[in-house]
Amino acid sequence: MRMLEDKIRAEGRALNADVLLVDSFLNHQIDVQLMKAIGEAFASHFMGKGITRIVTVESSGIAPAAMTALAMGLPLVVLKKQTSRIMNGDVVQTTVQSFTKGTRYELTLKRQFVCPDDRILLIDDFLASGEAAMGVHALLTSLNAQLAGIGIVIEKSFQPGRQRLETLGCDVYSLARVKRMDAGTIEFLDEA
Ligand code: 5GP
Repeated sequence: MRMLEDKIRAEGRALNADVLLVDSFLNHQIDVQLMKAIGEAFASHFMGKGITRIVTVESSGIAPAAMTALAMGLPLVVLKKQTSRIMNGDVVQTTVQSFTKGTRYELTLKRQFVCPDDRILLIDDFLASGEAAMGVHALLTSLNAQLAGIGIVIEKSFQPGRQRLETLGCDVYSLARVKRMDAGTIEFLDEA
């Protein structure tokens, strides 16, 4: 997506070869016009594929996921990052390793917000190692729902996330694919 790649080139900052900062439009301040365009881009890719519900993981996935849900006319569910396990039957949880913080959290979903047989589209801000998305897949599977598609705003294609997610057999669609980066340089794989 050209508009997104231009924004990353103009305002993104590679902290090192592994972590990209996009605080000025995605992770801290939010460019809502860009988010609207992102939501429409995901909607045009995933429309007609039988999606019944959108999910994301708090907090940076919420803006692009909300715009996608709006564009597709679908409900949105935000999975929580809890620090400890909740001991009641209302929720399902799985442990996920945070890429940026290096800590672990309990990815948490209330059963009531997903129906068996739902075909779910996961929207997230970044794809790195694929840990968060694998956790979402595990939770949905435990509720007999299907992860039918994954929409990623920024994929770091040099990290193993995409390869892991492709083994799940679902459609992984990224709007910007970073081939390599370092302080001062960001190169894209191709234009999505
Ligand atoms: P994964 O679970 O694929 O390893 O990492 C995905 C999550 O880690 C994303 O939801 C995002 O919050 C965070 N993340 C991964 N890489 C980056 C990065 O380069 N920059 C920022 N700002 N967040 C990242």
